[in-house]
Amino acid sequence: ISIPDLVGESYKRIGEVEEKVKAFITLNEENARKQAEALQAKVGTDESKGLLFGMPIGIKDNIVTKGLRTTSGSQILNNFDPIYDATVMNKLQDAQAITIGKLNMDEFAMGSSTENSSYQKTANPWDLSRVPGGSSGGSAAAVAAGEVPFSLGSDTGGSIRQPAAFCGVVGLKPTYGRVSRFGLIAFASSLDQIGPLTRNVEDNARLLEAISGVDPMDATSANVPVDTYSDALTGDIKGLKIAVPKEYLGEGVAADVRQSVMDALKVLEGLGATWEEVSLPHSQYGLATYYLLSSSEASSNLARFDGIRYGYRTENAESLIDLYKNTRAEGFGDEVKRRIMLGTFALSSGYYDAYYKKAQQVRTLIKKDFEDVFEKYDVIIGPTTPTPAFKIGENIADPLTMYANDILTIPVNLAGVPGISVPCGFSGGMPLGLQIIGKHFDEKTVYRTAYAYE
Ligand code: GLN
Repeated sequence: ISIPDLVGESYKRIGEVEEKVKAFITLNEENARKQAEALQAKVGTDESKGLLFGMPIGIKDNIVTKGLRTTSGSQILNNFDPIYDATVMNKLQDAQAITIGKLNMDEFAMGSSTENSSYQKTANPWDLSRVPGGSSGGSAAAVAAGEVPFSLGSDTGGSIRQPAAFCGVVGLKPTYGRVSRFGLIAFASSLDQIGPLTRNVEDNARLLEAISGVDPMDATSANVPVDTYSDALTGDIKGLKIAVPKEYLGEGVAADVRQSVMDALKVLEGLGATWEEVSLPHSQYGLATYYLLSSSEASSNLARFDGIRYGYRTENAESLIDLYKNTRAEGFGDEVKRRIMLGTFALSSGYYDAYYKKAQQVRTLIKKDFEDVFEKYDVIIGPTTPTPAFKIGENIADPLTMYANDILTIPVNLAGVPGISVPCGFSGGMPLGLQIIGKHFDEKTVYRTAYAYE
């Protein structure tokens, strides 16, 4: 197939299903088709060696793309055309991938269902009455619906892995620092990571390889060599030591979900791995810790949206203070406001020690839980989510139920370690995800395990 035909196939599929799935906020069709023609002219030459030569990719709309509308799912950025590219976009360009469009998401990546997008509700391609998960719901749905074979998402507390699980695709949150955050619109800077969503583990490994590495523009990116992740895809996991935290199979986890993990462990055992039950005793504090820290960081990160520098500006202001206030009141949605208020409160003097500082201390304990387990085991395995995808509208009125969705993914972000979700069976016709968690910068073992299982 030629590159223009391949890109044409993406847009054809989008034309067929997008009305129902609603994964994209913005399409990049004219540019993408031009780029495809330009790449086609390079086929067979030395200039066709990019790792993702001619491959169509969708990008979550909180990753800035030069000249291409970037909204972060928010009305406060409804007119924002960035003047620069995120580092991952430069890397995709080096890899010769082709950007098909920008993908729907919960506003500023706050949510677990993509219902918090201020643009549209994305549907789960497996059952259009259900959510695709979130916040990278567009990224997962677009891959699951066959609109693009590759997409990028971001994961602060589960936003790549949970939608990957709900949509039956593969999604990885890299080690904190593995992928540059330069040009990722910040939610909680100490937790955010960009990562790949794909149909299979091999594609996932190749996309991660293309976007990883230290970046002078992001001081938190790590100067650790990038492995050739695809080399790890041998199918050999003999002697692999797996830990299964009892907290990940306890109360609140659906029986089908538990069963799917037990079945997966049998498959892995059959391939020569061994597993034992372990404990991550501070997991129970994960949710509370995460919502304090992520909201605190968000309240600070979102201070820049003031109607002055870029984005939406209210027309309804007679003073500068009114301009700030009304821009933010009109531009941000309810969930974003809730987090800003919670974060501002947790950081305010008099409450800082009791909430923010305490949460930082608990975060250290959670990180230590993982370090202790990884002294003896190669990977940690459990479900990605406690249940399969729920109905659109089912949880939106109750933020606490919505937050509970990420109970199994959040500790991984707090610890900074890598985690993948791979499809592992079904419950009532909806896909389930198996979560495989690795040591810092050991994505290789995570991929090796996922590939052998898949
Ligand atoms: N659902 C979680 C939240 O609302 C995680 C979001 C994310 O990972 N970006 O914060």
